[in-house]
Amino acid sequence: SNHNLFAALRAAFPSDLNAVAVETDEGLRYSWRDLDRATAMMANLLASLDLPQGSRIAVQVEKSVEAMMLYLATLRAGYVFLPLNTAYQSAEIEYFIGNAEPAVVVCSPANFGWVSKIAFKAGTQHVFTLGDDRTGSLLDRAAHHSDQHKTVSKKADDLAAILYTSGTTGRSKGAMLTHGNMLSNAVMLKDYWGWKRGDVLIHALPIFHVHGLFVAIHGALINGSKMIWMAKFEPKRVIARMPEATVFMGVPTLYVRMLAEPGMTREAVRNMRLFIAGSAPLLLETFNEWQQRTGHTILERYGMSETVMLTSNPYSADKRYGKQTERRGGTVGFPLPGVSLRVRGDDGKDLPVGEIGGIQVKGPNVFKGYWRMPEKTAEEFTSDGYFKTGDVGKVDERGYVTIVGRSKDLIISGGYNVYPAEIEGYINEMAGVAESALVGVPHPDFGEVGVAVVIAKPGANLKPDAIVADLKSKLANFKIPKRCFVVPELPRNTMGKVQKNLLRDQYKGLFA
Ligand code: ATP
Ligand code: MG
Repeated sequence: SNHNLFAALRAAFPSDLNAVAVETDEGLRYSWRDLDRATAMMANLLASLDLPQGSRIAVQVEKSVEAMMLYLATLRAGYVFLPLNTAYQSAEIEYFIGNAEPAVVVCSPANFGWVSKIAFKAGTQHVFTLGDDRTGSLLDRAAHHSDQHKTVSKKADDLAAILYTSGTTGRSKGAMLTHGNMLSNAVMLKDYWGWKRGDVLIHALPIFHVHGLFVAIHGALINGSKMIWMAKFEPKRVIARMPEATVFMGVPTLYVRMLAEPGMTREAVRNMRLFIAGSAPLLLETFNEWQQRTGHTILERYGMSETVMLTSNPYSADKRYGKQTERRGGTVGFPLPGVSLRVRGDDGKDLPVGEIGGIQVKGPNVFKGYWRMPEKTAEEFTSDGYFKTGDVGKVDERGYVTIVGRSKDLIISGGYNVYPAEIEGYINEMAGVAESALVGVPHPDFGEVGVAVVIAKPGANLKPDAIVADLKSKLANFKIPKRCFVVPELPRNTMGKVQKNLLRDQYKGLFA
């Protein structure tokens, strides 16, 4: 049988192909038939290029429904989709295109000049353009092709996409994901998150990243659900469309920005069924405030480019964990069905319940390896086939997983481990604090010490010394940051992740 992910998504289209599949915030409506026909035409265009098996289709375009169709068409035609962050400029594109050697590059019309130069230099044969207003050579060329296409047969183990990681801890790596990785995850989440008939998803995330491209799009399509499509996240617009929707997915900063809107009320969410957060830690304060303001409990989940989704708070009773239905703030919930998760110490031994160590995972969702990095891939897998996530965390006696940071962000001060999330948690609870980040910097005596970088709430007057004094009254001395700075904002990448590497760089000379 055919394990092509597109075949499964297509099979889930509702029987009424004239129904609306995607409605943009500008009021454009695309039917399921439109999705079928347009992806067939694009797939036929790709097929007409006679590309070798496994060819990469690299895409750096602004978010649009047509860009999503191009993703689906790439699956349908059996090639490998390779999305690139729209923020990347020439040096970055040169690296990614040189590294991925795509057969086809699709870029924004405005970038054709410089992108095509880079692409042709890297041996790419075809460069198309695609604008966010249905312009460009890709659609012009696809228009000449048939709107009938038989989905190419794929094995579960065949590559479907190469997704570059967010580059939060260093240079991005290309995660090779198969049709089976993504399909197994999508099918399981449909059940775990209780997707039902009539669900409507507000899609307000970028589509070059696992969250918006895979979790959101697969989630809606495999349920035959309509999407309300937002080219950009605009809190007022999202709130305005909520009465027509049932599901929303966002990174934590989107929730913070919606809470800043007076229109974010119980009335606005009256038809909503589920709010999901992930990609970065959701502050307990945001979780609580959302509950108070809207009556909804955000469901936080955890995943990564290399594995799609790994853990989730329960939507409804998870019988594996004694019928628990509680969504616990500050945790990322339970390992998803089919995912094995364990916590190991530096010595490679399993740790007892509640102890902090490296999170390792195994399952049908775990990727094939890093693109053209065999050594790195070998390093990140254990001899018994578990993937080392690079995240540090613990599992409590009830089975809830908590992430306390990334192993690269761990601070070893005078031989003691300091877990940034623990200290940040205490700082965030202090009056007048909006958020904080703790990073390790070199120190002649202790090897490393913590530096706290704190953001004040509007109007609050924070004193760094008072923050440190407060921590001293609560925590062991080795955990106390040696310096504290109150600054206007934390550096974040496009997914809302705090870039601690930049903070470490900035403060590395403090004690040198
Ligand atoms: P890079 O691997 O290039 O440094 P990245 O790890 O940020 O970048 P992604 O694959 O986009 O790239 O992100 C996965 C990471 O995001 C996870 O390993 C984890 O650290 C973090 N993450 C995802 N969901 C959550 C969550 N709910 N809470 C805390 N962290 C999360
Ligand atoms: Mg990572």
